[in-house]
Amino acid sequence: MKKTNPLPKTLNVMGVTYRMFYYDDIAKGGPDEPFGFMSTKKGEMHIYTGNGVNFAWSTILHEILHAIGDLARIGILEYDDSKNRNHAEIDCLATVLADVLLRNNLLR
Ligand SMILES: [Zn+2]
Repeated sequence: MKKTNPLPKTLNVMGVTYRMFYYDDIAKGGPDEPFGFMSTKKGEMHIYTGNGVNFAWSTILHEILHAIGDLARIGILEYDDSKNRNHAEIDCLATVLADVLLRNNLLR
């Protein structure tokens, strides 16, 4: 059986430590982003795990892209609840990035 890395308890993105929260009840997600949400101000990422570890990693990468957007001020990646924009592009980037990392055994 393949060894599975545990999902991280914290993630450091550009010097900011985000505490990770995981939940398997979709009702506990945010209203606009039921699979995950993050706050750079609070230093938190909340990730839905009910669809399995690969999907959870794709969601983590989605939130990391938001964190990079917030911290590096890359507008198209920033987390903005009110606008909820660019999610198709961010999801695509996160999924492709997760696929590359998983195919090369950098994530398990
Ligand atoms: Zn998002």
